[in-house]
Amino acid sequence: MTKTDILKMLNDADTYVSGQDICDKLELSRTAVWKAIKQLKEEGYEIDAIKNKGYLIKSVPDRITDLEIKSLLADGDIVEDIIYFEETDSSNNQAKIMAEHGRKMPFLVIAEEQTAGKGRRGRKWISPKKSGIYMTLAIKPDIPPQKASMLTIVAAMAVANGLKKACFDGHEGICQIKWPNDIVINKKKAVGILTEMSAEPDMVNYVVVGIGINVNNNDFDESIREMATSISLESKAQVSRRDIIAGFIHEFSRLYKTFEESSDLSGLMDEYNKCLVNINNRVKILGDASQYEAQALGIDKYGRLLVKKDDGEVTAVLSGEVSVRGLYGYA
Ligand code: ATP
Repeated sequence: MTKTDILKMLNDADTYVSGQDICDKLELSRTAVWKAIKQLKEEGYEIDAIKNKGYLIKSVPDRITDLEIKSLLADGDIVEDIIYFEETDSSNNQAKIMAEHGRKMPFLVIAEEQTAGKGRRGRKWISPKKSGIYMTLAIKPDIPPQKASMLTIVAAMAVANGLKKACFDGHEGICQIKWPNDIVINKKKAVGILTEMSAEPDMVNYVVVGIGINVNNNDFDESIREMATSISLESKAQVSRRDIIAGFIHEFSRLYKTFEESSDLSGLMDEYNKCLVNINNRVKILGDASQYEAQALGIDKYGRLLVKKDDGEVTAVLSGEVSVRGLYGYA
């Protein structure tokens, strides 16, 4: 914990922090502080150390370990437990195993690489090493199982807001949501979300919300080249993955509290609809057996997409059953 606590103190300060302040606040010896700083430097942190002034973080490595993310947590965040994998099959799979074994929720699994990343309905999520973020939030909400898909909506909003703040100077309208759960930028897919659940008839055992974000990718597998993009390609800058993860945790924590108040999306749907790509435009609704075009009106408090058909009828589309596409491409 020493390193995490010191990192947190240095991260939180915008100027030099004296060695004595660190010793006093964390009740550590000078030697313990010095050793921890040395280790941080070895891990790639550039830390300026000036006699009589103290320590200042100059640059941080693009690390997304539990140590790093824990040092960025803030009051009110609902996640404290973070588990990091250099490589794993799928962060959702690992989160499910941990939840099955009774690990206290909520917790967040983060992986540097997935060898079997998953999309919806048996599809794959391409998860190259180090350029992306692959993380899964495991949570046990006190809601009936039918409502669990609403967490996908909450997570999509949290990712979109987190990205907006961390990478696009807070500009509205850049990160849009393709209902229910993909984040698109300039109509290309930058984020996919896969929610899975274990439940009894009337209670949820756990929900795992898996989030794959293309962050510093410059190129993509041929199969997705036309429709995929990354945050760095769109923001024209190298992006800090740790800031995106921390931003997601902060935003999810905030939005989840609103969700818990009503156990539905009534307090969030207006904010969600503002981010919805193709709102009021015509979209294609692709079901297993049929497809049709309609005007997208926005979500209701259950997270269903309301669409107006050509005969004027308004119907509510359920997320598990269909995919929605723009008329001229992916979004
Ligand atoms: P839907 O609209 O039904 O959600 P989808 O095609 O977006 O459809 P998902 O299950 O969300 O489906 O995601 C899996 C799909 O996303 C894959 O079939 C592939 O087309 C695409 N994909 C896979 N890896 C990536 C990636 N790293 N970046 C962008 N897109 C990807």
